[in-house]
Amino acid sequence: MALADRLLDVFREPLALSHGDVFVTASIGMAHMSSRSSSTPEDLLRHADTAMYRAKDAGRNCVALYDESMHERVSHRLAVETALYRALDREELRLFYQPILDLDTGDVEGFEALMRWQRGDGTIVSPAEFIPIAEDTGTINAIGAWALLEALIQLRTWIDDGVCSSIATMSVNVSPRQLADSGFPAMVAEALTRSSVSPHQLWLEVTEGIMIAEPELALATLRRLRSLGVRVALDDFGTGYSSLSLLQRFPLQRIKIDRAFVHGVADNPNDRSLVRTIVAMGRSLGLDIVAEGVETVQQMQVLSDLGCKKAQGYLISHPVPAEAMRSTVAGLERLGSFPGLRPTPSGRPTTVS
Ligand code: C2E
Ligand code: MG
Ligand code: MG
Repeated sequence: MALADRLLDVFREPLALSHGDVFVTASIGMAHMSSRSSSTPEDLLRHADTAMYRAKDAGRNCVALYDESMHERVSHRLAVETALYRALDREELRLFYQPILDLDTGDVEGFEALMRWQRGDGTIVSPAEFIPIAEDTGTINAIGAWALLEALIQLRTWIDDGVCSSIATMSVNVSPRQLADSGFPAMVAEALTRSSVSPHQLWLEVTEGIMIAEPELALATLRRLRSLGVRVALDDFGTGYSSLSLLQRFPLQRIKIDRAFVHGVADNPNDRSLVRTIVAMGRSLGLDIVAEGVETVQQMQVLSDLGCKKAQGYLISHPVPAEAMRSTVAGLERLGSFPGLRPTPSGRPTTVS
């Protein structure tokens, strides 16, 4: 470890190259023979390599020492990668849907498609675990294309069967890697044609990462999507940089307030101020605003009072399989406006301190 630290120290000095000083960092992985599974030189090198990737994951410019748990993590990840690769062909992926409610009218205005993976052995893997892996390995392009078409065909079926209104929308999550793919807008256009869904009824949910990492690329893709008539929502708003310039610079039509703020909106004055500000800003930019993760009537009341008129969350409905949507929508619409929710003069939020 002392040697590794000395090596890192050496790198702290810039390298004087002909065109100027350059800073370089190193990520160092180490393994030693006393590890039970490091019995050959090849094992040692492989384990040191594993540890080096760990050092990179930990933010680079540091040292990581191999231990058995790293090996387990790597094998688990490899097993998931391989299984995920085949999941689509094996029809192990499916979509669940969560309704988005218009708080003023009590109508289900649309749905968000959320992916579920039931592995061959029956275990359910959360998208929070497998989407990042699919993103890393590139499988996301195929999986995402499948999800988009599947969700649009589902919306078409629901509309035709009278499950939802003919103007209901479908929201589909899109990963940065999909947005970076130059064929993405064409794939979206084809899915819309194949499902006979109007572009205006599709919301693509993106996160800000790609707009910060590759602004030019993101802008070009978003513009092409916009020219198709498709609308774009900024998901998990408030959690990352969420800079105002982002909202101005990129063609976005909706923000989804992250559930982290919705969670505290009824009890925590800071969260409430934040949501109030997001809503005011969103409105002044002419954006549609949806609150995510609404779990209590109190949260919903405060959101409505603050002028956020669309919501989704467990209070309204958990994500459900397609077959369950008819009864879910019927149940919600039978309620009219949400029970316990005081009406506020539409368009004018009442003041909540
Ligand atoms: P997201 O797009 O922000 O989706 C909202 C997540 O919050 C979903 O988790 C949903 O089940 C959960 N949720 C909804 N209401 C509530 C609530 O009241 N309380 C709480 N605690 N949670 C609530 P899920 O389904 O596990 O998805 C997690 C994330 O995985 C999604 O976050 C999205 O980023 C990603 N994801 C899901 N499906 C897809 C997909 O088809 N493609 C891509 N690229 N990403 C997906
Ligand atoms: Mg989403
Ligand atoms: Mg979200």
